Amino acid sequence: MSAKIIDGKAIAAEIREELKKEVEEMKEQHGVVPGLVTILVGQNPASVSYVTAKQKTAHELGFYSVQDDQPEDIPEDELLNLIDKYNNDPKIHGILVQLPLPKHINEKKVINAIDPDKDVDCFHPVNLGRLVIGGEETRFLPCTPAGIQELIVRSGFETSGAEVVVVGRSNIVGKPIAIMMMQKGPGANATVTVVHTRTKDLASHCKRADILIVAAGVPGLVKPEWIKPGACVIDVGVNRVGEKKSEKTGRMIPILKGDVDFDAAKEIAGAITPVPGGVGPMTITMLMKNTVRAAQYAIGK
Ligand code: NAD
Repeated sequence: MSAKIIDGKAIAAEIREELKKEVEEMKEQHGVVPGLVTILVGQNPASVSYVTAKQKTAHELGFYSVQDDQPEDIPEDELLNLIDKYNNDPKIHGILVQLPLPKHINEKKVINAIDPDKDVDCFHPVNLGRLVIGGEETRFLPCTPAGIQELIVRSGFETSGAEVVVVGRSNIVGKPIAIMMMQKGPGANATVTVVHTRTKDLASHCKRADILIVAAGVPGLVKPEWIKPGACVIDVGVNRVGEKKSEKTGRMIPILKGDVDFDAAKEIAGAITPVPGGVGPMTITMLMKNTVRAAQYAIGK
């Protein structure tokens, strides 16, 4: 039987509707509008398109949003001063510095300069520490892992007691989603295994997974025979494998593939995310959710 296709676009739209209501209530009850600044250094085309999409979503949700473009050669101390300015701006609740940054700028220094209460990407060590402790201590959830968790929960999969296998151990996806899924609490309570490039037998671990989360960046890494029948498969990978002409615009656009052999896997899995249209649309939505949370925390301070 063919798997249920988990529609990231539809679930993201559902969450955005919920956020819109929260924004309206906040405005009415407290006169506060969530404020998000996206800082872009240079004009890397991929970064420009990510930042544009984030700004567009922020506008749609009724945020106060600022797009701050800086030249590629901005000195590091000037960028740090700019972050400090937004740290002290009460209209701004969330600060996002689009990565990667040019080589002359130390990314760690920049991330660490953001006020943890405005760190809506959840990259600051303080917020990652809070995430590890869990429960009430958690302030923000990192955007892609938060999107993954929402997709699993809103698709009706039971996480409590489930065997979750995470392929990949990056700081932005693999590690945080593994921590989130093992926490005590709703949408978690799972038994988690993390596999990576040094894992001896990837297949045997994946075969155990009730929920398989793949974030390796290797097209077609996960073979259909590695999937447990009925499993929930979340494919985070976004790999450019070529180009094609867009039917809509006639322009060349990238052909994207996930880390899972989708066509074969969907005949075995119980549910699976497509690439594109699965995890991707969720990431920006969860950034918006963090900005709303940041504004709520600021009201409560
Ligand atoms: P990364 O390169 O930082 O980490 C990849 C991880 O996968 C590493 O820990 C590595 O050990 C593991 N890995 C790589 N090859 C492997 C192999 N052959 N066997 C086992 N493990 C292997 O990547 P990342 O930032 O975590 O991103 C992973 C993928 O997810 C990329 O394709 C990226 O584009 C995509 N991504 C998508 C979104 C989204 O919003 N849709 C967000 C972040 C990342």
